[in-house]
Amino acid sequence: MNADTPRAARPVDCPCGGAAPNQKPAARAPRYADCCGRFIDGAAVPATALELIRSRYTAYALGAEAYLRATWAPQTCPADLDVDPAAEGAPRWLGLSIKRHEQCDDDHAIVEFVARYKTGGRAFRLHETSRFERGGDGRWRYVDGDVS
Ligand SMILES: [Zn+2]
Repeated sequence: MNADTPRAARPVDCPCGGAAPNQKPAARAPRYADCCGRFIDGAAVPATALELIRSRYTAYALGAEAYLRATWAPQTCPADLDVDPAAEGAPRWLGLSIKRHEQCDDDHAIVEFVARYKTGGRAFRLHETSRFERGGDGRWRYVDGDVS
């Protein structure tokens, strides 16, 4: 995985909040470097779809486009992907919660999550059930998802 260069400064607390199923609401956010930072900056590879989705959420929040592409299945990765958080009308990501993490077999997993964001002064919730697969290289990638 290539080291990415997020357009936003690296935060101290991880934007993903360490989201996990059954996480306590008052749980402290982990440090970025110990959580998603090691994946986005290329020092480690997510071992589970749960780690992957957290780091992809954080990559959206930071505008780490190369990381999003590298962790997207080639057959579903969109040709045009603009995640610059400084762009006009870009969503401001407010938080991630994980509803479900289901390991289907060694190389397939499902994660249901809610990501909250704000754009144009309005708050939205993205509720998605995402599919992940692990390639022959042992790396998890996002395939697609159903938005509810
Ligand atoms: Zn994180």
